[in-house]
Amino acid sequence: MLQGLKIGTLAAGAVVSASLLEGCGTQSAPPSTTSTTLGPPTTMNWSTLGAAMDGTLVVPSDPGYAVDRLLYNAKFVGLHPRAIAYCASADDVARCIDFATAHAINQAARSGGHSYGGYSNCDGLVIDVSRMSSVVVDTRSNTATVGAGAQLIDVYNAIGSHNRLLPGGSCPSVGIAGLALGGGIGVFGRKYGLTSDNVQSIDLVTADAQHVTANGRDHADLLWACRGGGGGNFGVATSFEFSVHPMPEVTLFTLRYAWSAAVTMLGAWQEWMVSMPDELWSNCQLLSEGPSGYLAQVSGVFCGSPSALDSLLSPLRSAIGTAPLSNFRGSNDYIGAMQIEAGCPGLTIAACHLSSHSPGGKLSREAYSAKSSYVDAPMTAMQNAQIVEAVVNLKSHAPSIGGGLAFDAYGGAINRMNSDQTAFVHRDKLAGIQATYSWSTYTPTSVIAAGEEWLTWLGNNVFNPQTGAYQNYIDPNLSDWQSAYYGSNLDRLVKVKAKYDPDDVFSFAQSIPRSL
Ligand SMILES: Cc1cc2nc3c(=O)[nH]c(=O)nc-3n(C[C@H](O)[C@H](O)[C@H](O)COP(=O)(O)OP(=O)(O)OC[C@H]3O[C@@H](n4cnc5c(N)ncnc54)[C@H](O)[C@@H]3O)c2cc1C
Repeated sequence: MLQGLKIGTLAAGAVVSASLLEGCGTQSAPPSTTSTTLGPPTTMNWSTLGAAMDGTLVVPSDPGYAVDRLLYNAKFVGLHPRAIAYCASADDVARCIDFATAHAINQAARSGGHSYGGYSNCDGLVIDVSRMSSVVVDTRSNTATVGAGAQLIDVYNAIGSHNRLLPGGSCPSVGIAGLALGGGIGVFGRKYGLTSDNVQSIDLVTADAQHVTANGRDHADLLWACRGGGGGNFGVATSFEFSVHPMPEVTLFTLRYAWSAAVTMLGAWQEWMVSMPDELWSNCQLLSEGPSGYLAQVSGVFCGSPSALDSLLSPLRSAIGTAPLSNFRGSNDYIGAMQIEAGCPGLTIAACHLSSHSPGGKLSREAYSAKSSYVDAPMTAMQNAQIVEAVVNLKSHAPSIGGGLAFDAYGGAINRMNSDQTAFVHRDKLAGIQATYSWSTYTPTSVIAAGEEWLTWLGNNVFNPQTGAYQNYIDPNLSDWQSAYYGSNLDRLVKVKAKYDPDDVFSFAQSIPRSL
């Protein structure tokens, strides 16, 4: 539950959209807020590594380097790895791990490059798996074998073409590896679980550059850890085998309310949502949209018909009591629904990619900061009011920043698993909360700082650290991150880390330690 909220004093500021809460960003790149210089000069022979690879090695003198080093979050524009290895095979990954270890340089695995903390970049060697992106569906066994570098929109498109679905997240350019290793919350989660719950088997290259398949029979401890333990910890994944599910009829809805109804809406949504069937996933958004005002809405995805959805929505609408400002409800196919969730409806699949990294891509990178928490049980009326006040607080102190809070429904299949069944511990939550703000190239640094101050204030005064935080919304500013992400599973994760990465080859600011 949320703690009592004290409204803090924040610096005044200037707004962009809160697109992170709605899919993917479409803005141009802002200035860097984080930077590293190139690591120390070395005598290592990069060309030897490049020549040995099936894929390609990019070093700072190569023309593509300036873009290849970029992550999705534009605030990490200052990160400069010594080289980026586009691995085309698991053998390439092993070569890279061997090389980095032999030369004692840092290494970081990268799939889609959407780490909130920038942890798929480093000052040494970036081991990029994006060229391993094939998706093969077996409709007899209802499984899909997915290369670790596949982007979500391509995974959905390939699996959807076989009338199957994999539960996953919203942003089309998120990499399957980062998503699946840390959990994977999405619109089919209540019905089919997290993305990580659907992992049957993973191929990885471990810290000693060995190829390993972790499944229920072999390396079961590693499979357990990789189902929610977070990316970048135990090895470099090269391929996943997922369970996939028959595609249901899909209906989407959005109910947008006047801001004056926001407190009632938030309270009604929590009470209503817990009584809904697994087929209905929903979220509740409270956003400051800068000069455009506020947004208060409940939206969701239902595995069923529009008429069945209408019946389910009826008690929510009654509990809110006022007529919505707008009301959308419509059938969609799976891909169409995922494109809407991704913020690229009506575009081709090719266009639902980043323009910086994919030919034909129409989406832009985004600059943002975020923080997550959980709700264990329906909040009191006073707490609901305090949450709404927190969004008002963002607008009054940083009026040009877009941001706010989104509550994502948990429950259903997610909560039916025990907290120790996989490394993903958050199995008793009513909802996940994500707070975020984003900015553009033109946002003054003082305004960006005001947003950061708001997030910090929120973390200290509104969010209850005891409820945990979502490891895929990895938060470099979270102090007690080990227990927040992993709770009672931390000890077991530490043992798996010590076994498979005893020399801490895969290390970053919030990597799982080898001992406590
Ligand atoms: C716009 C946006 C929308 C999002 N929406 C959702 C959502 O709806 N649901 C949800 O659950 N999450 C969502 N996320 C969060 C997302 O799941 C995480 O940021 C995830 O870690 C990104 O994975 P990636 O592969 O793109 O990132 P990367 O930055 O490439 O990797 C993330 C982490 O995993 C490690 N890693 C990458 N590849 C490998 C590999 N092959 N083997 C081992 N480790 C690896 C990296 O080193 C890094 O530590 C969203 C993020 C963004 C930016």
